[in-house]
Amino acid sequence: MTSTTPGLVCAHHHLYSTLARGMPAPPKTPTSFHEILEQVWWRLDTALDLEMLRWSAMLGAVEALENGTTAIIDHHESPNAIEGSLDVIAEACAEVGVRVNTTYGITDRHGPEGARRGLAENERFIRAGGNGYVGVHASFTCTDESLRAAAELADDLGVGVHIHVAEGIDDIDAPERLAGLTNDSWLLIHGVHLPDDHGLSGTIVHNPRSNLNNAVGYANPARFTNPVALGTDGIGANMIEEFRLAYVMERSVDVTASPEEAWSWLATGWDLFPEARDDVVTWTYEPMDPWHLAFTPGVMPTRVEVDGEVVFTDGRTTRVDSAEVRAKAREQAARLHARL
Ligand SMILES: [Zn+2]
Repeated sequence: MTSTTPGLVCAHHHLYSTLARGMPAPPKTPTSFHEILEQVWWRLDTALDLEMLRWSAMLGAVEALENGTTAIIDHHESPNAIEGSLDVIAEACAEVGVRVNTTYGITDRHGPEGARRGLAENERFIRAGGNGYVGVHASFTCTDESLRAAAELADDLGVGVHIHVAEGIDDIDAPERLAGLTNDSWLLIHGVHLPDDHGLSGTIVHNPRSNLNNAVGYANPARFTNPVALGTDGIGANMIEEFRLAYVMERSVDVTASPEEAWSWLATGWDLFPEARDDVVTWTYEPMDPWHLAFTPGVMPTRVEVDGEVVFTDGRTTRVDSAEVRAKAREQAARLHARL
């Protein structure tokens, strides 16, 4: 066993949410997942401009490298700053040296015009050579027409659709809404409330920390025949930590579960983002074996190499000054929080 691995992949992230930490409390304490969306995330995304987004993405990318994650599959929404937003995220990640696949999550929450503009941003970005999926927030915030348009655009562009599916009970009819639209290149995020035989194709991305935080329930992804990958849903990009949680959550419902299964979910990230296999992360611990890691807290990278270039070493990112990124992100967070 060696103490190096390929670059880890976060298969579902929201780089726009990095500045949410410490945001002012909502006017009323949310008591359900739907209220969390309405009072936290849909207020935050509405207040974002491109400058805030730039530093939010930059900080998220720095924190990814600091945790050995070299590839991020991002899902973005900023309804008052749609056009060009995917370029801002892609450029921020490129500056830090992190691989990113990003997408604009369309929704009809702000009317059909908002959905149309979101779709256009996906198309513009991908046709210009950007690495992306076609994004949809979730079927419960979209019309059938928008869902069909997203699926058709994705087919046309030769990519999949990246969509939240049955995260909360609000989206319980997702299997019927999406029937006939999905294929193996889709990313189905969460699947907490999907039945075992849901009939949808694609990779299910499990985000155990986020699911616990939103009290939506346990997805128990071992029950699905679909491939399963791991994401953080915007709560950082420490994939070793997410693996450890995925293992112990599975163990909580199946005492025979092996950490090898949760590790295989982490490894699915390399099928989604094969370039990360060429990256090299050196760790503080040896061996990087699922049975060790499941019971070893605090394993951290000492060196990260992306595409042959050292982008993190001696506790520091090499391309950008992480202290400066943190200072700028704090300034932008103050602007954002003042708007809320
Ligand atoms: Zn998400």
